Amino acid sequence: MGTSLLIARLFGIPVRLHWTFLLLAVWLVSTHYSFGGTINWADMGWTLASVTALFLCVLLHELGHALTARRYGVNTQKILLLPIGGLAMLDRLPDKPPQEMWVAAAGPLANLALAFVLLPVILLMPGNNLETILGYWLYPNGNYFIHDASRFEYLLVGLVALNVLVALFNLIPAFPMDGGRIFRALLSTRWPRLQATTIAVRTGQAIAIVLVALSIPSFNWLMALAAAFIFFSAAFELNMIREDHLLKNKTVGDAARYSFTKIYTTDVLGEIDDVFRYKTKDEYLFVFDEWNNFVGVLDGAVMLAAINENETSYVTRVMAAKLLHPPSLTLDDKLHDVLQVLSDTDWKLLPVSDRNGKLVAVINTKIITYYLRQTKWGLFR
Ligand SMILES: [Zn+2]
Repeated sequence: MGTSLLIARLFGIPVRLHWTFLLLAVWLVSTHYSFGGTINWADMGWTLASVTALFLCVLLHELGHALTARRYGVNTQKILLLPIGGLAMLDRLPDKPPQEMWVAAAGPLANLALAFVLLPVILLMPGNNLETILGYWLYPNGNYFIHDASRFEYLLVGLVALNVLVALFNLIPAFPMDGGRIFRALLSTRWPRLQATTIAVRTGQAIAIVLVALSIPSFNWLMALAAAFIFFSAAFELNMIREDHLLKNKTVGDAARYSFTKIYTTDVLGEIDDVFRYKTKDEYLFVFDEWNNFVGVLDGAVMLAAINENETSYVTRVMAAKLLHPPSLTLDDKLHDVLQVLSDTDWKLLPVSDRNGKLVAVINTKIITYYLRQTKWGLFR
C-alpha cells in the first residue's frame, strides 16, 4: 500500500495517513491559486477546515468498526486514512454472523449519531430552522439558508449532510461495502458462509453494473470509479472465501510437490553446478547424507556463491556454516495451518515427510497457490 505517516494513536490503535494525502494538499493549494499569483488564504483555510472535518468523520466511522470489533475480542492493527476514504484493518473477522453484522453497522451508525448530535446544535443557532436547512441541502444554489449564516454554520450544515450521505453510501447492500457485509451476515443465518457470500457478492456486482450504467450518461466518473471498485473488490472477497473453503478440508499431501532438488554431503560442488544452474529454480537444495538421511537445506544463493568460490570443495564444507533446518511437515498436516506458518516465517520451501518420517515432498506458498488455481474450477462442477 506504500508509505504512510503515523499521526495519532487512539484507544491504542495507530492511525496512519497515506502519502497520497500530499496530492490532496497540492489540489487544495492549486484551487486557491489565481492567475495573478495570489493565494486567498482565508478561503484556503476554510477549505482546509472542511477537508479536516471530513476526515475526522471518516476516522469516526473507522473507529466505530474498530471499537465494536474490540468488544468481540478482535484487535485492529491500524486505521489508514486515504483521500478516497478510510480503512480499519482488523486482525480477522469476528466468528459469528451477528457479530460481523454489528461491526459492519457500527461505522455508518457512528456517522448517523454525529449527524443527530450536530443537527440540534445548528437548530439552536438563531435564524435556523429545519425547513431552511433541508432546502439548502436539496437546492444548494437556491435561496435557502440566506440569512447571515457564518462560514462555521455552513460547515456544520455541510457536515450533517455529509455524515448522512457517508452512512447511506456505506449501507448500499453491495459487498464489500458495510451494507454488503450486513447483508451477508443476515444471509449467513440461513445459508452456509460460502453460499451467503456468493449471493451477497453477485448482488453487489449487479448493483455496481447498474451504478456504472447510471453514471455514464451523466458523466459521473467518480460514481463509475466507485462502482468499478465495488465490482472488483467483491470478486476479490469471494475468491478469498472460496480459497478458505477449499483449504478447510485439504491436507499438505494434496497440494505438495513431489519433486525437489536432492544433493549429497559427499557431492563435489563442481558436479552439482549443472543441476543447480539449469535444472532447478528451487530456492533450497535438500541435503542428504551417504545413508540417504535428510540432514537439512542449503539456500540456493549461498550455494552459488560457494560454487563460484571453489568448485573442488565438498557440500560438507558449505554445510558446516550454512545448513538450515526448516520445520518438517507431514502429508496429513492441514493446508490452512501451513499457510499460516509460511506467512509468519521466512522459510522459502518446507520439507514434507510421510508417516515413516521420510522426506517425500516440498511445499511453499507458490505451490499452494498453483494447486488452488487448479482446483478452483472443480468447486462448481
Ligand atoms: Zn465502513
